Amino acid sequence: HQLSRGRRYPLPPDPHRNEFQRDRDRIVHSTAFRRLVYKTQVFLNHEGDLFRTRLTHSLEVAQLGRSIGRALGLDEDLIEAITLAHDLGHTPFGHAGQDALHECMSRADAQGGGFEHNFQSLRVVDRLEERYAAYDGLNLSFETREGILKHCSRRNAEWLVAHDPTGLGRRFIERTQPSLEAQLCNLADEIAYNAHDIDDGVRSGLLVLEQLEELTLIRQHLAAVREAYPALTGRRVLFETLRRVLSQQVYDVIDTTRAALGEHGVSSSEQVRAAPPLVRFSAAMRRRTDEVQRFLRVNLYRHPQVVATTSLAREVLRELFDLYLADPAQMNTQLSSGSRVPRVVADYVAGMTDRFAL
Ligand code: MG
Repeated sequence: HQLSRGRRYPLPPDPHRNEFQRDRDRIVHSTAFRRLVYKTQVFLNHEGDLFRTRLTHSLEVAQLGRSIGRALGLDEDLIEAITLAHDLGHTPFGHAGQDALHECMSRADAQGGGFEHNFQSLRVVDRLEERYAAYDGLNLSFETREGILKHCSRRNAEWLVAHDPTGLGRRFIERTQPSLEAQLCNLADEIAYNAHDIDDGVRSGLLVLEQLEELTLIRQHLAAVREAYPALTGRRVLFETLRRVLSQQVYDVIDTTRAALGEHGVSSSEQVRAAPPLVRFSAAMRRRTDEVQRFLRVNLYRHPQVVATTSLAREVLRELFDLYLADPAQMNTQLSSGSRVPRVVADYVAGMTDRFAL
């Protein structure tokens, strides 16, 4: 296990757990983690019981991350902590909710840096969780927080550099990389949502199996499945195909990353941070994965039925935001004297589940 740079509020060592296990445990017991059950990415929570929620998505990312991490000899506990926390800051209704809240914040609080979900995930674990007597937030280790903040605007990075004594914002200014574990969690996230959005897309009827044949990544596996199991029909054709796609992507990351680690000869976490991204797909797999993403954007995320729900979601968030901004007393939360009302409203609305917001 790698050594940690520590926590904001130092803790005595735990007799049985390492620092990243403790982070993972703190995350699993948080309120924000339980809310992931009722938050969605593409389909709304009430649209069907089998679609992914943020919780099942996070578990899938954790599984993929740990599996690849073990093969590469990375820290599985750190990977688990980062992956389980990576979506804690998501608003209700997925990206539509985030966009709406960003618009609201840019309008109501021009100096405030808008709303970014990665930054919000960090706010959740650093400030918003109220589980400890001695401090706000979960007091996680630097490495877990570094992995949670996977993207950050220049403006928010500068704010962090000025306000966060741990130096978490610096890499976005210096353009250096996070740990290998953090890099892996990003890629595992991408592998997970591409595969499960295809799965949910077909389940919902918004995508059909035949459309997937235009994708290089899927086509060859689909043909192999049909050849090996000519009598197989329905969902099992898709499941068997996606299973093979996932394996291929996982093996590709392991092989490509192993080669990159060897080539760059990194032996410390400082060298990792100064090197180019080392956890990655091969160039061919990158192209195929980008093709899947473009396909999903055009055929699923911009599908008229999805767009109709996301417009509803935007409207709900805008109305809630304006209502609480005009009358903060309606929020079930405490306003401390120094707090900026728009930020408190954004935190409150962002914390809502799909069901609660509706
Ligand atoms: Mg995610």
